Amino acid sequence: MTTISTAYSASIFDVERFRRDFPILQREVYGRPLVYLDNGATTQKPLPVLQTIERFHNQINANIHRGVHRLSAESTEEYERARATVQSYINAKHSHEVIFTAGATASINLVANAFGDAFVHQGDEIIVSEMEHHSNLVPWQMLCQRKGAHLRVWRFNDQGELNLDQLATLMGKRTKLLAITHVSNTLGTVNPIAKAIQIAHEHGVAVMVDGAQGIKHGKVDVQHLDADFYAFSGHKIYGPTGIGVLYGKEQWLSQMPPWQGGGDMVATVTLERTTYNELPFKFEAGTSNYIGAAGLAAALDYYSAVGPDAATAHEEQLLRYATQQLQTIEGVRIIGNAEHKTAIVSFVQQGVHPYDTGMILDKMGVAVRTGNHCTQPTVDHFGLPGTVRASFAFYNTMAEVDRLVEAVQRAKQMTA
Ligand code: PLP
Repeated sequence: MTTISTAYSASIFDVERFRRDFPILQREVYGRPLVYLDNGATTQKPLPVLQTIERFHNQINANIHRGVHRLSAESTEEYERARATVQSYINAKHSHEVIFTAGATASINLVANAFGDAFVHQGDEIIVSEMEHHSNLVPWQMLCQRKGAHLRVWRFNDQGELNLDQLATLMGKRTKLLAITHVSNTLGTVNPIAKAIQIAHEHGVAVMVDGAQGIKHGKVDVQHLDADFYAFSGHKIYGPTGIGVLYGKEQWLSQMPPWQGGGDMVATVTLERTTYNELPFKFEAGTSNYIGAAGLAAALDYYSAVGPDAATAHEEQLLRYATQQLQTIEGVRIIGNAEHKTAIVSFVQQGVHPYDTGMILDKMGVAVRTGNHCTQPTVDHFGLPGTVRASFAFYNTMAEVDRLVEAVQRAKQMTA
């Protein structure tokens, strides 16, 4: 099925060769070659992913876990194979610790509801960091409201870093869970989650890691991290939209009640009462996105063949170059200067609204994101209306960084 990716174990990181796997990167916008620097929002899809989805629709499609017929059996096999691929990619101990969801947001909501129902009571506390995406903040606010629990905030400094010493001071007898992003989608900060998890566990606190950005920052090993929960979306790691993963330790998942009711999550149903299916199906009510799951598995296979470490090293080079070049432009201020950063550079231009910079860049064929990036408290920390955010993937090039810098210079001239 994946005919292309195995060719990519070369020791030299051959960006041009990888780019040929991404049809969309060949297109133009406004008569210029597209420079796609909005990878924090979603990544583009390589041919093996697109081919997997097409092949599934053309040759296999049937609903999973339900039919006795051949296609349904094949569909189910592909779906469970995809689960095994995810398990192996994140090094989960058991395949039933991998729950397929619609995405990172759905995964976090699942935990906020099911873990929240089982373990969070009036007067308990949940800790979130100040740099969370709304997806890893709002579900916890909602839980606290529902349960009469309290939200405590782990603040970051002006570099965009969290101080581990402060974490222990936030933990008390009533703390039930720490919700923390692996990588900030606005500041690019790579958080010291392994240490944070260790501290939390010393206090008997469970940890929900939002891995929406972290999943494509090198290799993730959930057992090594000792994360209780790790959530991510397929579309941010070169896979399809509408599919995501919740990894959860068996010890938690088995004690949590189901969140949504429906087909597939049940063992027996009478008009009076229902017993629930075993893990992972207990948390997969209704028809799962089985084709999306196969697409996600193809994406993980592809990315593994590219080499997560080599990809990350290349992205870090792009980050360094972009940071250095943008800083040469008068009036540009980089937001988020953590020592340990991923390939996300947020900035503002003196006297220019981020939205205007984004519009001018767009007209020059450079796609970036502007605004608060669903992290309003993060941009509020800096007293800003938003930032311009360029976020890189392994298929971006130094020449594209030059196009970004040139466009930002142009924006400065046009608005002077
Ligand atoms: N968390 C972080 C850090 C993100 O960057 C995002 C998306 O931008 C999400 C959560 C939500 O992901 P999704 O919209 O795919 O559920």
